[in-house]
Amino acid sequence: MAARPSLSVNDPHRRFNPLTGEWILVSPHRAQRPWQGQVDQPAVPSEVAYDPTCYLCPGNSRAGGHVNPKYDGVFIFENDFAALKPDTPAWDYEKGGLLIAKSEAGRARVICFSPRHDLTLARMDVRDIEKVVDAWAAEFMELGGNPAINSVTIFENRGAMMGSSNPHPHGQIWANSTLPVEAVKEGATQLAWFRAHGRTLLSDYLELEDERIVASNEHFVAAVPFWAAWPFETIVVSRRPVASIDGLNRDERAGLAAILSELTIRYDNLFQTSFPYTMGFHQRPTDGEGHPEIHFHAHFYPPLLRSASVKKFMVGYEMLAMPQRDITPEQAAGRLREASTRHYLHGSENHS
Ligand SMILES: [Zn+2]
Ligand SMILES: [Zn+2]
Repeated sequence: MAARPSLSVNDPHRRFNPLTGEWILVSPHRAQRPWQGQVDQPAVPSEVAYDPTCYLCPGNSRAGGHVNPKYDGVFIFENDFAALKPDTPAWDYEKGGLLIAKSEAGRARVICFSPRHDLTLARMDVRDIEKVVDAWAAEFMELGGNPAINSVTIFENRGAMMGSSNPHPHGQIWANSTLPVEAVKEGATQLAWFRAHGRTLLSDYLELEDERIVASNEHFVAAVPFWAAWPFETIVVSRRPVASIDGLNRDERAGLAAILSELTIRYDNLFQTSFPYTMGFHQRPTDGEGHPEIHFHAHFYPPLLRSASVKKFMVGYEMLAMPQRDITPEQAAGRLREASTRHYLHGSENHS
């Protein structure tokens, strides 16, 4: 980093997140402090390929009387408890310029990555992850093709620590009529950069990135970003600036599957646990415009800090002031690079 030479790596400092336009505080010396806080149960992977009580397993019943087909690949259905509904009537509320509300129409779907209850992205075959990538792209095109939908958010909550109620490998797809808060923030910064430099912000970031890279292949780079807030946060960026997942060609889709496999294996191996995280993709609004300023990428936000059972809390100063981290992004990247690419439960190379 271009810091003053007198600044030690262990001195507190601030770093700027150019995607959100917000600062974070880095306090590396705090990593040595004794831990007397909450200790969670480490996540243990499910040991059964089929769970008769799981509402996502093939052939099982879900709430509301729906029965899953006996699917053998990717399975997608409308969320039985959808946060967004397509038939929401238009509604506006305003009082005194301070109390403001609007109706929000949309859809919410669930995507099962595999019929196998005991698998995760980290333990799936890369070719099967590629089918998930294809399904994400098809959903993005179909939902985004609806003129009433202007934003499609594809994400996965992994693990009870992140509030995921079911270990079955699955993610969610929420589609909005308006742009969500994070998309508005990152859209504005990327547009300003593109107008000023004629290149995407993340293309220029990849040019600068080196010491924080965790994994890379011909088409994708995964790094702990310079401005990471969560201890082992990563960003996965396509080398070619495409605006959305449907713009990835066949080789790039294989490259995305391979880097998701490698990264999640490294995560699992870091603390020898089924590593919890929230991950998801940021891509162009589906408003009919091309958005060359938007550069397709994924964020991984994992909560674990120092072991499989001790997580980082974003409370206190983080809620009232700004995000703060203990270990530096460079240290976190080094730890993830040291983690094996052979899954600790498999003992075999899972990515190619
Ligand atoms: Zn299941
Ligand atoms: Zn983003």
